[in-house]
Amino acid sequence: MAGKVIILGGGESGVWSATLGAVNGWDVFLSDSGIIKDENRAVLLHYSIRFEEGVHSFDPQELADIVVKSPGIPDEAATVQFFTQLNIPIISEIEWAFRFQDKKIVAITGSNGKTTTTKLTWHLLHEAGLNAGLGGNIGKSFAHLLMDEPDRDIYVLELSSFQLDGIDTFRANVAMLLNITPDHLDRYHYDIMEYAASKGRICLNQTEGDVLIYHAQDELVNMVLADASPEIRRIPVAFNEFQTESIQLSDGSLLTLDTTGLRGRHNAFNAICALEVGRVFNLPLADLQKSLNSFVNEPHRLEDVGELDGVVYINDSKATNVDAVFYALEAMNKPTVWIVGGQDKGNDYSALDIRVREKVKSIVCMGIDNAKLKAHFADFGIPIFDTNSLDAALQTARQTSVSGDAVLLSPACASFDLFKNYMHRGDLFREWVLQQKKL
Ligand code: ADP
Repeated sequence: MAGKVIILGGGESGVWSATLGAVNGWDVFLSDSGIIKDENRAVLLHYSIRFEEGVHSFDPQELADIVVKSPGIPDEAATVQFFTQLNIPIISEIEWAFRFQDKKIVAITGSNGKTTTTKLTWHLLHEAGLNAGLGGNIGKSFAHLLMDEPDRDIYVLELSSFQLDGIDTFRANVAMLLNITPDHLDRYHYDIMEYAASKGRICLNQTEGDVLIYHAQDELVNMVLADASPEIRRIPVAFNEFQTESIQLSDGSLLTLDTTGLRGRHNAFNAICALEVGRVFNLPLADLQKSLNSFVNEPHRLEDVGELDGVVYINDSKATNVDAVFYALEAMNKPTVWIVGGQDKGNDYSALDIRVREKVKSIVCMGIDNAKLKAHFADFGIPIFDTNSLDAALQTARQTSVSGDAVLLSPACASFDLFKNYMHRGDLFREWVLQQKKL
């Protein structure tokens, strides 16, 4: 039943939530305290949606039945508080979009590996001829998908903890929880349990007939899934110490990663999780292997960008937390010059000690929080360099590497001190290498 909805935030998820509401007969008003991007404003105008920007000015006489909040807006924001005090339900775009469809949903979350696994899962289903759409926290928002690709049979969604915070009736036919390690704690009162509980909501409302795929050994994962309905079919996936080339699924079937571009034990784990979804949809093993071989991951995730003087350069700019760097270092099979740093998110670098001792020949710090890194690794007997730009970091890395080494950008930090975002950081890294090759 349509009514009045207020959408907070005019980004990708907000704008498409607004249009989805409008085409379904809702009275929509969108409010963004900042400036809305031209392309998003054009969408609002096209669908004749009422909106304001640069201000939140709600008319108390004209309140909504429901509020859809963009994931970037924290609960503490004054506007959110305003609606909370009025007892108006506040939901996420994922919950909102869910209410407008009745298709099969595969929902994937975790602290690390979401994008890789979501894309791979979609690739496996799509290549097998299933009519699947891909979106959520990557590419098109769920609402955007429903507007653009309404006839899909399956939606494969990457979901962040912020998106899961605002769900209520959302139910995934297949849910996946990859891992839970500290991230975004600034939004969860620096309480890992609070963050973990958000991730655990991936199986909210799941019951008989639904499937839950999850990390078998992750303590936090097991803790937050303990109360999930016993009716759910559970597929625990072991993060195996030794399986990197040959992988085994829960039904005993064997596949190989030798013929794929997926590197490292973390990607073996991601692949198994995605393949389990393929098996849930009864896809034949031979097809799954073929699709695994043709999978190309997104850039900035252990992306090989080229070689200079016999040194390979690897862009892992997406590694914005310590856990991701741990597995990046683990996947390195050459002496590694490690470019690290940026905006520290409260990192504890000691989790990396063992890998740094095994793999790293020198550390190039790059960014605003170098002091903490230098202090932590000071007595490792490894040269540590202090730089404040990508150019300086790469010059240093080049000077300190020799043929047979690798230079790895795996920052463990946010990028906003020197770059627009992690993609900008990774793109500049790649461009620098390509530029040097031309000289
Ligand atoms: P997300 O979408 O969750 O950020 P990505 O697939 O984009 O995940 O990968 C982010 C970073 O985490 C990359 O540096 C990648 O190498 C690393 N990574 C990928 N999968 C895993 C995993 N299962 N465990 C730990 N780190 C991972």
